[in-house]
Amino acid sequence: MSQHLQSAARHAAELIEQADALIIAAGAGMGVDSGLPDFRGKEGFWNAYPALREAGIDFQRAASPATFRADAALAWGFYGHRLNLYRQVQPHPGFAWLRTWGERMLHGWTVFTSNVDGQFQRAGFAPEQVHECHGSIHHLQCLGPCSEAIWSAQDFAPQVDEGRCRLLNVPPSCPHCGGLARPNILMFGDGAWIADRSRAQEQRQAHWLQSVRRPVVIEIGAGTAVPSVRWFSQSIIHEFGGRLIRINPTEFNVPTPHDVGLPVGALPGLSAIAAELGSEWFFPSDLA
Ligand SMILES: [Zn+2]
Repeated sequence: MSQHLQSAARHAAELIEQADALIIAAGAGMGVDSGLPDFRGKEGFWNAYPALREAGIDFQRAASPATFRADAALAWGFYGHRLNLYRQVQPHPGFAWLRTWGERMLHGWTVFTSNVDGQFQRAGFAPEQVHECHGSIHHLQCLGPCSEAIWSAQDFAPQVDEGRCRLLNVPPSCPHCGGLARPNILMFGDGAWIADRSRAQEQRQAHWLQSVRRPVVIEIGAGTAVPSVRWFSQSIIHEFGGRLIRINPTEFNVPTPHDVGLPVGALPGLSAIAAELGSEWFFPSDLA
């Protein structure tokens, strides 16, 4: 570990030790160390989906309600593959560290994420304390939509021809009108996303935030290209006087000298901080 990273990690550990609440703000970079693909940049996306490169379809087009209308087997080929992937992937150890640190704080923790992959819940985070601002791939809604209904995707097992990026089995349908169902995710050019589930999560989170006094935000893998997570981090600093630990390999600048940036990826950043925290931060059961 470089000396710079080590001293940044020590600063981060001090911010964690003085805080009464942990706010985890995670973007796409959080999942990369679990082996999930990063869709930023055309090449990254097409390397993950070569069939879409051949068809000249970029991420913005694949992830749009228009593509569900034009070619459901292709749209569900893309989302079905991701659904299968996210159901199988093992979250990296950074998730468990974050949960342990949050559990040691007076007011506990909350999660704000633009990721739709459900990895925090898979890593054992209580679903009622997670705010998924762009929705979740593990939930469905009507493509129409005919109603505001949102339901679990658990009964749908996609069979995907990965080479052609096409769904082979019958896509899920709306239980109310029988039309095509789609993931309950905010897509590009999407005026029909049902935000009720995400809004309820947001309200629970806002209520919880009223109780905290010295929050620390650990922001992980959230770039300026999709700024929702960064806006959330800033709002915590402005409204609640929180401090910021920003883990990001390229965009790691922080607003004040009291805050700290770690210029690395999620897992190396979190493990550097873990190495600087005392052993009492590793055994939540000791609290009892
Ligand atoms: Zn419907």
